[in-house]
Amino acid sequence: MQVWQEVIPVTVPTPSPAPAPETTTTPIVPSPQVTEVTVVRVIDGDTIEVDIGGKLYKVRYIGVDTPEVGQPGGTEATSVNTELVTSRVVQLEKDISETDRYGRLLRYVWVDEIIMVNAALVASGYAQVATYPPDVKYQQYFLELQRKAEVAGLGLWVVSQPIPATEGVFVGSINSDVYHYPACEYAQRINPENQMWLNSPADTIAQGYRPCKRCDPP
Ligand SMILES: [Zn+2]
Repeated sequence: MQVWQEVIPVTVPTPSPAPAPETTTTPIVPSPQVTEVTVVRVIDGDTIEVDIGGKLYKVRYIGVDTPEVGQPGGTEATSVNTELVTSRVVQLEKDISETDRYGRLLRYVWVDEIIMVNAALVASGYAQVATYPPDVKYQQYFLELQRKAEVAGLGLWVVSQPIPATEGVFVGSINSDVYHYPACEYAQRINPENQMWLNSPADTIAQGYRPCKRCDPP
């Protein structure tokens, strides 16, 4: 199982150039009605400011969500975005909505009409798919990229740690070589964090345990 990482990474890696979204399964190209603009600054992972005819507009990427700056992955998401679009001329593609409730332009952002930044962020594992109808044109494509990032453990997708068992047929302590029935008074004294749960006599032997003399398990 994969989970979206909630812990703060120990190191902040400098992301290598964001992988271009794979176009083998779902070839996509920007629709003809794109607007070419210059990126003035990168605000965070999924927001930029652009110059359109001398006026500044904030652009929020459609269909994706990156961690806020200050949250785990926020810096990395911003770096991926920065590498792709800083000071560049990019192409904006509209879906259905013009703006969000904050007045930001809602757009798909293309670099060289080949790399869609929204998709590249999902592919890098530093953005999650966030669908807000009616702007759903590339939803399936984004979900496909997200699945691949998740399986590959990219970005913030990490393999979850197996949860240690908290019950079983027998219990021992990781600090001793004796195992008990859980009801044994000695078993009850084992600190929860030191419990080693075992499910069969074969299990206990494999783990190097011997039976308690008091509760006398098999
Ligand atoms: Zn015992």
